This record gives sequence, structure tokens and C-alpha cells, in this order.
Amino acid sequence: MDKLTIPGDPRLEETIRREAGRLPGQAFIFSGPGDRAAAALFLAAALQCRGEDRPCGACGPCRKVLAGIHPDVTVVRDPDHKNLSMDVLRQVRQDAYLLPNEGAAKVYLFPDCGLLEPKTQNVLLKVLEEGPPYAVFLFCAESAAQLLPTVRSRCVEWTVRGPEAQTEADPRAAELCRLLETGSLPALTAFFTGLETGKVKREELQAVLEDGRQLLTAALLYRSGCGGSAGPGAGLTRRQLSRGADILDEAARQLRFNLNPGHVCGGVCAALARCIRP
Ligand SMILES: [Zn+2]
Repeated sequence: MDKLTIPGDPRLEETIRREAGRLPGQAFIFSGPGDRAAAALFLAAALQCRGEDRPCGACGPCRKVLAGIHPDVTVVRDPDHKNLSMDVLRQVRQDAYLLPNEGAAKVYLFPDCGLLEPKTQNVLLKVLEEGPPYAVFLFCAESAAQLLPTVRSRCVEWTVRGPEAQTEADPRAAELCRLLETGSLPALTAFFTGLETGKVKREELQAVLEDGRQLLTAALLYRSGCGGSAGPGAGLTRRQLSRGADILDEAARQLRFNLNPGHVCGGVCAALARCIRP
């Protein structure tokens, strides 16, 4: 890897850039079909970067992270065993309490949670819960279910999408924006009830919320005379667009905290209803 990017998921890059300064937790799970290791490295660099748009990819810390030689970014491996051994995990736990060498954070990156047996995961519970504020844990997992529920509940989950998913915005996002323009509360409720009863998957709902936020932001730029063309949502007032984008952003954050998708649907529907009420 010679460039800081998350191949196939520019949306997640944008989210991490936006949130790296006010990180929503200390432990993160990168799951989903995309390049999870690249996503974890992207966040690790964002935490160490001293540039403007973090991660800049050009400053000293960014280059060290990319080269795999940053002293405060540890990729946790165990070359002597098939799975990660208790000893390696105990070392991580101990090391996490030592101040960073030169960075702002101390990052531990687990490239494959398939190598973390339940009993070894237990070694980390305490440090995940009450470790020092500078210690950050990044777990790459094919499925978050590879981690114990007790570990998962201490983590914020980010879905990494693959290249096949990013070509088009989710059509339901555009539908939602058009529906907000009509101002119809029953239609809005029906939209979210439909997602709930269709048992919308976490990743799908995340895509709807994030794509919706992007559409509303684009419409806000258009309404403010900053270019673009009239897309879905352009009929809303600037205040509604800005508030609506915030609501969708906040809901996407809640999803990452493992809140149930149905619960998030209910909350976001109520908040949007208040926002478009005449
Ligand atoms: Zn940088």
C-alpha cells in the first residue's frame, strides 16, 4: 500500500475525515466486504496525522503509518502461532498503559479477528472499557459476530463497502429526499415503516442515511448558490436541508454504536417529521 485510501469506499473516507477529530469511541470494528485493513490504516493515520485534512498522506506521521514504522501504531500479529496467543494479547494490554512515544494516540490494529479466540478476547475487556484515553483499538472482522458480545458492545462499528457497492447512490436515499420535499408525514412514516418491516440490514440503512445526507448537502449547496444542479431535496428550505443532513448524520452515527436498525428508523423518522413540519 503506498497511498492512503480506502479502495471502493470513498464515503467511509469522508466519514472518517469528518469524525477523526471527535472520535465517537476508543474501539472500532471494521466489518463488511470491502478493504477492512485499508480502512483501519486510514483511521490510524488520521489519528496520528499533523496535516490539515486528516489523514493528509504526506506528513511525517502519515508516511510512517503507511510504511508500517510508526512507533504508536501496532499491527497485532503472532508469527509463532496460528491464532493470536494470550501472551501477545497480554503484551498489548500492558503496552496500552504506556504513554505514546511521539503520536497523539496509541493504536492497536487487529487485521483479522478470525484469529482472536473468545478466551483471548477476554484479556482485552478491561482495557477496552477503561483503558487510557489515548489508546485506540481497531478490529478488522469479516463479520462483527466473530467478536464476543461483550467486546462488540464496547465498540463502534463501521461497515466497509466494496468497489461494487459504490457506483450508484442508494435509490431509496433519493426517494427519501423527494418525499421530504412533499412534506407528507404519512408518506414519511410509511417509508420508514417499510424499511423496518422489510427488516432492513444495518449496512443498507447506513447507505440510505449516508447517501441521503450527501444528497441534502448537495441540495443545500445548490440552494445557497454554490453550484451544482437541482437534485432531490432542492425544494426544501436551507434550514430544513441543513437540519435534515444533521439528522441523517446523527442517525448513521447511532447505527455504528450497534443500535438496532428498527430503533434508528423510528428515531430518524420522528426527527425528520419535526424538521419538515410546516
Ligand atoms: Zn498527515
